[in-house]
This record gives sequence, structure tokens and C-alpha cells, in this order.
Amino acid sequence: MNAPVNPKKLIKGATGDWEIVIGMEIHAQVTSQAKLFSGASTAFGGDPNSHVSLVDAAMPGMLPVINEECVRQAIRTGLGLKAQINLRSTFDRKNYFYPDLPQGYQISQYKSPIVGEGEVIVDVPETGETITVRIERLHLEQDAGKSIHDLHPTMSFVDLNRSGVALMEIVSKPDLRSADEARAYVTKLRTILRYLGTCDGDMEKGNLRADVNVSVRRPGEEFGTRCEIKNVNSIRFIGQAIEYEARRQIAILEDGGTIEQETRLYDPGKGETRSMRSKEEAHDYRYFPDPDLLPLEFDQAYVDELARHLPELPDEKKARFMADYGLTPYDAGVLVAERASADFFEEVAKGRDGKAAANWIINELFGRLNKEGKDISASPVSAAQLGAIIDLIGEGVISGKIAKDLFEIVFTEGGDPREIVEKRGMKQVTDTGAIEKAVDEIIAANPDKVEQAKAKPTLLGWFVGQTMKATGGKANPQALNEILKKKLGIE
Ligand code: ADP
Ligand code: MG
Repeated sequence: MNAPVNPKKLIKGATGDWEIVIGMEIHAQVTSQAKLFSGASTAFGGDPNSHVSLVDAAMPGMLPVINEECVRQAIRTGLGLKAQINLRSTFDRKNYFYPDLPQGYQISQYKSPIVGEGEVIVDVPETGETITVRIERLHLEQDAGKSIHDLHPTMSFVDLNRSGVALMEIVSKPDLRSADEARAYVTKLRTILRYLGTCDGDMEKGNLRADVNVSVRRPGEEFGTRCEIKNVNSIRFIGQAIEYEARRQIAILEDGGTIEQETRLYDPGKGETRSMRSKEEAHDYRYFPDPDLLPLEFDQAYVDELARHLPELPDEKKARFMADYGLTPYDAGVLVAERASADFFEEVAKGRDGKAAANWIINELFGRLNKEGKDISASPVSAAQLGAIIDLIGEGVISGKIAKDLFEIVFTEGGDPREIVEKRGMKQVTDTGAIEKAVDEIIAANPDKVEQAKAKPTLLGWFVGQTMKATGGKANPQALNEILKKKLGIE
């Protein structure tokens, strides 16, 4: 409660500083072929109501049968969150009426979830800090269908394709203190889910969405009353919703008012949150154990087996990249953010200088891909091609400057870097005779500069530039420097 507060995270109000407190409930669609309690397909984008079994439509007499794959994915996610795995958990009915919920209840886990407490380590780019966000729980539940109100002037439609699809609800403790931290947390969580292959993290399709709980308090004081912003479906909007909501609450409190606990919606068009329902209107879900489902039980050996086959996760990969390749925490963090870029890096770095490989990927390749709006998986320059470019520099065949031209050629035209260097005469001139000849000509043409350089050795740079120009940038920089110093009599 009295942990030191970073003043940069505080919001200045008219009456003093305020601290934001955020906790999130993330809904992540489980990657599986079939739904949580039926064999219907989870494929996205089918014709309305084409992926609906009798169970999903809640026909009388239908019974749910749990999909083992969804259970496996929830356990694997729990392991990835370094969380307690509960060998026994139960399913409950959460009762409410809505046209897109044919059962009249959602099957969820209430009192005893499949996964308990865990944690996520988060690097926050804006502050350079690393924070630990504690996970409260992860439970399995069904998704609802979708109401469509804008296809007909007087009627609404219901599409049940999503009905019954498995979701993992991942609940954090109220450990986040700024919009930056909240965005970084969701980004990191999504990275972990993608590494595990348990959720594709596609927020545009609604496969990952967040309920964002926001309150404000005076630094060090008790938590304030929170408002919950429902179903925010982009990382940018999560940040915007928090900033707006915190300022709204501060304005009310500074005006002598109190915060009412309520559910709100974020409107990205207006950049504001709006009340959806107050605490009084909150649903009474009348939770009770689902009589159609036995408790979910498995043994520790099953969990251990899943743990053994977990892929290397981003935190471990980052630590390994730092230890094995000498990368900075920042560079390692950037590379492991996506599994594809981490794999690309390792392919380039194998048997080469890791730092050089990281530099080329982060500074040149990422920049160039960004410009084209391309993903690393669609990179026109392969790991083998980039490796060859780095080798050519290492062997002294081309200079670093020419290497950038070569990279651009490979990026736009493709081809074998070695052949391109050969064919287009891009080789560095290491033949000292040829360099000397070029230097001699420049010295002869610029006697005044030669005099100045003797008094002011920094003018050497001017001669380097002239010789590079004369040799089309191909003079070996080291050889050139030595020759120039000798000829100009500079030590
Ligand atoms: P409920 O069961 O009513 O949804 P929980 O206690 O499970 O409430 O909390 C739901 C989410 O709200 C969690 O992510 C939690 O971290 C967050 N939360 C709880 N209290 C606060 C608070 N005062 N300010 C911000 N977030 C909070
Ligand atoms: Mg909740």
C-alpha cells in the first residue's frame, strides 16, 4: 500500500496528485477446432448460423460434453502464466436473459476455476521499467452468439456461430498504474498466448478483448471505487479509455462528488466512456453448479506432461538471447516480441556475430518492412540472404556503407548477395595500390587542404570522403585511413 510511487505516473489534478489503479479481465478465444461443449466448428467468417450444433442452439434434452483440447489449452496457458493449476475445478451456470444466449445461461467457472494465481513480467517501453502483474485466476467459459441490429429496419437477427466457443477469462489483480502499463500488459499477455498457440490474439476479430477496471486514489491511500469499461477491442483504445476514464473520475472527485460503481462503454469515435448500467441495474447471475457437468478432474502427471512440451516462452528466450548472443535487454525484448522475428534472428545469428545480426534486423529490416507495411513472415529478404550480407562485411568484401545498398537491392529485386556484389562490381577495394593512386590524385589536386590537415588532423575526414567518392564508396576504410595518415604525415 505504501510502495513508493513514481511521480511520472501520477496525474496532476486541480487539488493535487492522483494515481490510477487498473485491473483487467481479458477474454481470449481458445485456439481449438471445436467448441467448448460441442463438436461444431469454431472457424471464423462462416455464413450466419452455419456452425451451430443442437447443443449450441440449446435444444431441449441436449447435454454438454467437454472438449479435451480446450482443457489442454487452458492448462498450457496457466503454465505459461506460471500459475497454480487446479487438478479439480467446476462449471457453473451464470444466468441472464439475452436473445443471443439461447440457453438462458452461460456455462462458466465461478468459485473454483481451472487456473489460480500466476504472474506476467512486463517491460514498459515508455518508462523503461519492468513490472510484475499478478494474475488472480483463469477460467474457461462459453462465448455467446451475436445480435445483429443493422440489417433490417424493424427486426434484429441472431448469429449463433460464436455461441459455445471456448473463452479463457484471464483476470489480473489491480496492479497496473497507468495506461502505458495497461497497454504493455495486454501486449505481453498476447505475446505469451501466441507463443503457446492457445489464442491467436486477433483483436480485430474479437478473439482477444478486455474489460478494463479503472479507479483513482490519492497516492498511497486505499483503492477508490472502480468503473468497468466493457469489451475494449484494441490496445490503443484500452489506453485511450483509461486516460479518459481516470480524468472523468478525478473531475467528479475534485468537484466533491463520489464515484458510482458502474459498467461503461468506450466510444472510440468520441474518445469517451459512457455509462451502460449502474450497480443497481447490475445482473444478479444466480450462479449455481451446472448439474449436467461433472467436476473437471485430471492428474498432476497430465499437467507435467504438458509442461514438458511447452515451447520456450518470451521471457526465457529473451534471457537466452542476452546470455548467448550478448544482446542488450532492449534488443532481445524487441526480437522476442514475435516468435517469427525471434526465429528469424536465430537463423541469421547462428555462427555469426549476434549483435550485428540484431542490429541489421532491428534497424534495417524492421524499418524497411514497416515502410512497406509488411510482416517479418513476408520479408522479401530471407534470413539466409541477410546472413550472406553480414558475412560479406565480415570478410571485408564490402564496406558497411555498400552493404546498405546491397540490402536495398536484395530487398527490392531479390537475388544472391554474393552474385550481386560480383556482377555489379560492389567489392571493396583492398588493393592498396589502387587506393594509393586515388589518394595521390586528391593530394596533388588539393595542396592547400594538405597543409591545413597537417595542422588540424580532423581534416583527415575530408580526404576520406573525397577518396570514397572517387572509388564509388568501395575503398576499404581501414586501408584508406592508414594510407592517408602516412601520405599526409599525420600520426
Ligand atoms: P468482480 O468479481 O465483481 O468482477 P473482482 O474483484 O474479481 O470483481 O475484480 C474484477 C477486476 O477488477 C479485476 O481485474 C481486479 O483487478 C479489478 N479491480 C478490483 N478492484 C479494483 C479497483 N479498486 N480499481 C481498479 N481495478 C480493480
Ligand atoms: Mg468480473
